[in-house]
Amino acid sequence: MKIYLDHAATTYVREEVLKTMLPYFSEIYGNPHSLHNEGKKALIALDKAREGVAEIFNCRESEVIFTGGATEANNIVIFGVAKANIQKGKHIIISSIEHPSISEPCKELEREGWEITRLRVNEEGLIDLQQLENSIRPDTILVSIIHANNEIGTIQNLEKISEICQKKKVIFHSDACQSACSMSMDTKVLNLDLMTINGSKIYGPKGIGALYVKRGTKITKINYGGDQEANLRPGTQNIPAIVGLAKALEIAQKNREAENKRLLSLREKLIKGILEIKDSQLNGHKTERLPNNIHVSFKGINGQNLLLQLDQAGVYVSAGSACKMGSNEDSEVLKAIGLPKNLAQSSIRLSIGLRTTEKEIDYTIKVLSETITKLRENKFAKA
Ligand code: PLP
Repeated sequence: MKIYLDHAATTYVREEVLKTMLPYFSEIYGNPHSLHNEGKKALIALDKAREGVAEIFNCRESEVIFTGGATEANNIVIFGVAKANIQKGKHIIISSIEHPSISEPCKELEREGWEITRLRVNEEGLIDLQQLENSIRPDTILVSIIHANNEIGTIQNLEKISEICQKKKVIFHSDACQSACSMSMDTKVLNLDLMTINGSKIYGPKGIGALYVKRGTKITKINYGGDQEANLRPGTQNIPAIVGLAKALEIAQKNREAENKRLLSLREKLIKGILEIKDSQLNGHKTERLPNNIHVSFKGINGQNLLLQLDQAGVYVSAGSACKMGSNEDSEVLKAIGLPKNLAQSSIRLSIGLRTTEKEIDYTIKVLSETITKLRENKFAKA
């Protein structure tokens, strides 16, 4: 039995996506910058992929920049906007639950003398809109708020955030990697200036990202080389991955409503089953959460131990966020929502997906319940 419940860490590549990508490895392999026919064929594929992503983003094709993943896109946003707007000021606002690909570049800017405001979140993981509005100053150059959190799955109201940013005339970016399958990615409705997604969370390939850059946004390149991707991301474009990301996004968005409904029903069943286990609690928001995210704590249980026991039973989950795996550091996100240290260390994240079935949910509940009973009986395994 193998039950993969770690879709928030990464997804497998959809069959159709893989099929779309395959010809671009060794049949159509040109550099889209080359002027000969082989290059033109690659350029056609690149243009078509950009057109597809632009359609989903409801933006111009020239506003879509392909990058080598979301980490790179987020670094371009933080350092690129900082560099282009330094005359206006050196103040950036983020939330206290950003992915490290946003929070770490901000720490680096802090070391260089920038001021970073980290908005607090409530115990469900939502930012305080009033605090956001009060924090914007004349020298604020950027607000970056994660759309759906990668650990607890809480979804922020981007429309409300963008209203405030627009009123205060501040550039607004959102990391939408976790929500790109389940939420609309219409940049006109979300009303933002910059948005990041990647292939790795949407049943596309890893190492590929797409960054929306609204026309007129003050941003500059941070890497130097060729003039590819509107001069923001130099380097030969990864055509198979770009084609794959575009296809994955197209399918995910086309199936969004039906798949959300299916996932929601599975999620609620899993949550209900888990909460029947003694001394368990759900973390994050009850309703404003990703349809595939379940983040729970089990009093007296060590999350890492539980993960390893579940692994033995063929159920693959995560203890906190994948980026922190193998590290003993406490999760910043769980700290930010005020989860006591003992409960933070007693938590796991289960993220369901495309191939998750009802049978798998039943099995997971059974295995979880049995494993926790066993762990609680063994005093050495207690947290
Ligand atoms: N942002 C969020 C919210 C994520 O969940 C991830 C993936 O872990 C990333 C950024 C980084 O993505 P990538 O692996 O494409 O650099």
